[in-house]
Amino acid sequence: MRDNQTIEILTKIADDYKQKYNLLTRVDIASEGFYCYYQTGKDYIAYSLQKVEKFNGGTASLKQYIGALLHELKHAIDYNTDKGAFEKELEKCNIALYEDSKEYHNIQPFEIRANEFARQELEKWL
Ligand SMILES: [Zn+2]
Repeated sequence: MRDNQTIEILTKIADDYKQKYNLLTRVDIASEGFYCYYQTGKDYIAYSLQKVEKFNGGTASLKQYIGALLHELKHAIDYNTDKGAFEKELEKCNIALYEDSKEYHNIQPFEIRANEFARQELEKWL
């Protein structure tokens, strides 16, 4: 499932959290890239629909699209809440593990927080 309605929903959700948490984060929904990531210095979220589909075996449900966005939004929330603390956590993690590793998301504290946030918030949107 991937259409304009999906993008509309994701944009609305991103706007909702930006307003709620006073974020100036730039969120690039339907990024042309192949990754979903949050870039701290630029306070930027790249969100690739293709990446979410690939990660979920070639196709994604609305729940999976939203979950992936909520995950990245939590990184933005954490960074904007305490930049120093977030950067310290980032320094500790091994960048090499970034490459598509599911394990990576199970061991980094900020990734665990992002996954929990996505799980908790997801219910509001479904
Ligand atoms: Zn993450």
